[in-house]
Amino acid sequence: MRRALIIGGGIGGLAAAVALQRVGVSVTVFEKEPAIAEVGAGLSIWSNAMLALRRLGLESAALQHGSIIERVRSVNPSNVELAVTDFAALGERATAPSICIHRADLQRLLHDAVTASSLSAVETGRECVGFFDAGATVVAMFKDGSREEGDLLIGADGIHSVIRKSLFGHEVPRFAGYFAWRGVAHEAGFDLPAGEALMMLSRGAHAGAFHCGTDRIYWFLTCNASPGAAAGSPCEARAAIMSQIDNLQVDFRALVDATESDAILRNDVIDRPPRRSWGRGRLTLLGDAIHATTPNLGQGACQALEDAVLLADAISRDTSTEHGLRAYEDQRRARANDVITQSWRLGKLLQTTNPIKVWLRDTLSSTALGQKSTDKLFTRLLCTELPSLKPSTASV
Ligand SMILES: Cc1cc2nc3c(=O)[nH]c(=O)nc-3n(C[C@H](O)[C@H](O)[C@H](O)COP(=O)(O)OP(=O)(O)OC[C@H]3O[C@@H](n4cnc5c(N)ncnc54)[C@H](O)[C@@H]3O)c2cc1C
Repeated sequence: MRRALIIGGGIGGLAAAVALQRVGVSVTVFEKEPAIAEVGAGLSIWSNAMLALRRLGLESAALQHGSIIERVRSVNPSNVELAVTDFAALGERATAPSICIHRADLQRLLHDAVTASSLSAVETGRECVGFFDAGATVVAMFKDGSREEGDLLIGADGIHSVIRKSLFGHEVPRFAGYFAWRGVAHEAGFDLPAGEALMMLSRGAHAGAFHCGTDRIYWFLTCNASPGAAAGSPCEARAAIMSQIDNLQVDFRALVDATESDAILRNDVIDRPPRRSWGRGRLTLLGDAIHATTPNLGQGACQALEDAVLLADAISRDTSTEHGLRAYEDQRRARANDVITQSWRLGKLLQTTNPIKVWLRDTLSSTALGQKSTDKLFTRLLCTELPSLKPSTASV
């Protein structure tokens, strides 16, 4: 039986472990943190990723913890409707709904699925510092001096991946020119009909609100800034958010009021420009480690879930581990790289401060042409096919 070493116990690493165990590969996930941390805020998991969760046997559980997104209503700061995108109809075409789920809930579901199988394990407190190719195997090296040997190694260690750095050298992530505040409000007095998500497009900022499980609303707000601009204390962050949303006709204040200051996250929006090469020999990369994207399409974790299914499928089909890894990369590269490019462009449009561009953006989005182009983009992203995972008949 083949043994896979996965570096990183985030959404991508855990999903890859579930997928590989389903095709009969033994897996160990090595996570540097002392425990699988329940961090993050809401994640939109669009139809394409729900299909991936179906292949992992986790679609129903995700549905139980999340909230279905039937439509996204876009408004301007005066709360005038610009467009409505029908995700219920897109979900029917894609054969899976879209949801918003707390990242911690999704991570727990994946973690439980990994640890429920005798084929896989998660080891925390194991920080990988590098690897070497030993010919017939690959060896991961850890900070404590220990080593682990496997047939394949998957770098799922996020945007600052050490595995990626060992492969391609030091590359600084690309700063998009803005940051995002995020939070999950509990029982907020915010008027958001069931099934509806809200996007507010402003000049140099945008914001969103999504139902995210029972009595919870996930919200975010972006702000243009220079790289590394100081985050400030939680109270300063709350004050800065309040001053930005003060004049809005959309009552985001109710959401921020219903969120603990300490639970408000602030992230510089960064990505990795598309890459042609994803791996070498018995090693490949997955998730943010190779295709970190700006969050404007809400596809980062979704693409990692697609990676997981197609990686396991390729490994199960190919008699050579190395060929299987290259087949996975060939299948995933164009789509994941397209998401990076489209999301980056969308971010520029959403964050523009040019009044003419803002007017054009808002005017166009409410026309039939604008809605057709949104529908075309989301059809391409959401309506995809993913193979069912079957136990492998291939040997090393
Ligand atoms: C503001 C914002 C909003 C977002 N919204 C969405 C959304 O709505 N929908 C969506 O699909 N995506 C969204 N994303 C993107 C999504 O969060 C990421 O794409 C996804 O979490 C990436 O998962 P990953 O497993 O690849 O990486 P990570 O989640 O970063 O996990 C990497 C793991 O590796 C571990 N690790 C790192 N280095 C080592 C090491 N040396 N040894 C061992 N372990 C290590 C880390 O501790 C971590 O647990 C958003 C991102 C941001 C910033």
